[in-house]
Amino acid sequence: MRECTQFYINGRWVDPVQPRTAQVINPATEAPSGRISLGSQADVDAAVAAAKAAFPVWSATSVAERLELLKALVAEYERRAGDLGAAITEEMGAASGLANTFHVHLGMGHLTTAIEILEKYQFEELRGQTMIRKEPIGVCGLITPWNWPMNQTCVKAFPALAVGCTMVLKPPQLAPYSAQILAEMIDAVGFPAGVFNMVQGKGSEIGSALSTHPDVDLVSFTGSEEVGIQIAKDAAGTVKRVCQELGGKSAFIVLDDASALDNIAAATGGMMGNCGQTCSAGSRLLVPEHLLEQAKGVMRSAAEAVTVGDPTTDVAMGPVVSKSQFDIIQRYINDAIDDGAELVAGGPGRPDGLEIGYYVKPTVFITDNQMPIAREEVFGPVLCVIPYKDIDHAVEIANDSDFGLAGYVNGEDVEACRAVARRIRSGWISINGGFDFHAPFGGYKKSGNGREWGEWGFEEYLEVKAMLGYEAS
Ligand code: NAP
Ligand code: MG
Repeated sequence: MRECTQFYINGRWVDPVQPRTAQVINPATEAPSGRISLGSQADVDAAVAAAKAAFPVWSATSVAERLELLKALVAEYERRAGDLGAAITEEMGAASGLANTFHVHLGMGHLTTAIEILEKYQFEELRGQTMIRKEPIGVCGLITPWNWPMNQTCVKAFPALAVGCTMVLKPPQLAPYSAQILAEMIDAVGFPAGVFNMVQGKGSEIGSALSTHPDVDLVSFTGSEEVGIQIAKDAAGTVKRVCQELGGKSAFIVLDDASALDNIAAATGGMMGNCGQTCSAGSRLLVPEHLLEQAKGVMRSAAEAVTVGDPTTDVAMGPVVSKSQFDIIQRYINDAIDDGAELVAGGPGRPDGLEIGYYVKPTVFITDNQMPIAREEVFGPVLCVIPYKDIDHAVEIANDSDFGLAGYVNGEDVEACRAVARRIRSGWISINGGFDFHAPFGGYKKSGNGREWGEWGFEEYLEVKAMLGYEAS
């Protein structure tokens, strides 16, 4: 059993002001895997006070000093990689093959990217007689979700550390273990006391204590639209910056060419990665109408090839994160059938032989773009396939969404892919599987405000100062 009953505040592991704990459930066994302490306003106040006190010194450190600590963190991260992978599998059910590769590597990628950028970032730039200076914004509240726990935490914490901010992290109750290990790594490397602090607990309590706190200058949030809106409202009274990375219902457009069926198979398998619990998932697959019948067989085979089971074994997919997510996904599947969606693979209930654990069948539906299952984020291994007549129709369907986080365009003619990508109202569009740690990530429309990753991630945590008359005329 894992015990995460202390908080990391001011460079020390401390007990909560009021003792209170909650169990953490392993989604593969439905049994407790450990417990966390639930913090209160008093713990947040102590953590914010530590971050505030540390800010003047940390923000004045040199780039070289911060680089040295971040580079030491690379070695510590490598040393703890196995622990991180195991923690992620246990907390949110990712198959160990995925947890030990993508989950762990994404966090490391944000660390090495932050180092690369910090090595050459221009914090000052003379424009005419004016010096434009970028300065760390101050104390940051980081509120993260459970679905890619290290990715979401590292994409916030490492740029914030790199630019000289101090911070309080509120990890998700469902996935607290990897965040605990991150705090241990930061402690082991010896960042100055108060630079990084972590308080576990309920979002409605710890999260809102951060959003409303007068000494917190920025809140960076990743999670649901509903909570993102609440945080913006809570933050309004203290006029802090709010960065929101919210949901998506992204289109994966397969162009009509000889590679289409292969792309359809890849998109189907891709949707099932991380059990579909990815905000940027290509959850609406747009296929040429005349290929739909052929595509059904391809998609059924691709979905049925996804092995589901105990995530500590060699499977592609473990359980979804919790009973409540399992129930939500089952409701979406049943409602889609009632709405007349055509089931191609999967469907309601657990896969055969998996009676314990929150396992969901890799599921594929043919839908239109108006059914709730095609408009709302399911956050499970459920793919909506929508036929299109021509490329204008595909673009129209792709953009007919309240969200605008990601998009995918696959096809042999790269120029045709680019033309489609330009027309999609989303912040992050991958052509033929393109991926880049230095590319900005974030959404249009209800997918949020702001951009993370790479240089754009730095700018989230920086204020801009203009010093006029810096050069004498
Ligand atoms: P969530 O319920 O929004 O929770 C996210 C975090 O916010 C958790 O740490 C949660 O704490 C905390 N929280 C809850 N209520 C709060 C409040 N009133 N004030 C401040 N913080 C609060 O989301 P989730 O269930 O973890 O994740 C699923 C959703 O997140 C999906 O809609 C998905 O699309 C979205 N998501 C988006 C991205 C992206 O990058 N755009 C990435 C991942 C997920 P608890 O631990 O108490 O729940
Ligand atoms: Mg929630």
